[in-house]
Amino acid sequence: MTTDASPDAPSDMASTARRTIVDGNALAGMLTGVFADDATRLTLRCGHCDRSGLLAEAVVERDDTCAIVRCRACTRTLFTVTAAPGGAVTVRIAAVAEVRTPPDGR
Ligand SMILES: [Zn+2]
Repeated sequence: MTTDASPDAPSDMASTARRTIVDGNALAGMLTGVFADDATRLTLRCGHCDRSGLLAEAVVERDDTCAIVRCRACTRTLFTVTAAPGGAVTVRIAAVAEVRTPPDGR
């Protein structure tokens, strides 16, 4: 992990708290449980219509290698999931504006 002070932080980030600029490794603890546990319990907010709902309630079109996840209210694509033959999974974010874990954080 690299650490740098951030004297040039944007003004909208101004506060009395000291901030540092680090690399993505700093998110390991904060994001634990967001994608590793049951993802269907995540609440997604659609960036198009602002509806929030559980991923489990979204509309999903799928075949053997691809899933298109759509907003139940406006039908915009929230994200797509593609599974490659070697096992890699690609998630392409579309209209998802926010992903929130359940209140218990899991
Ligand atoms: Zn929507």
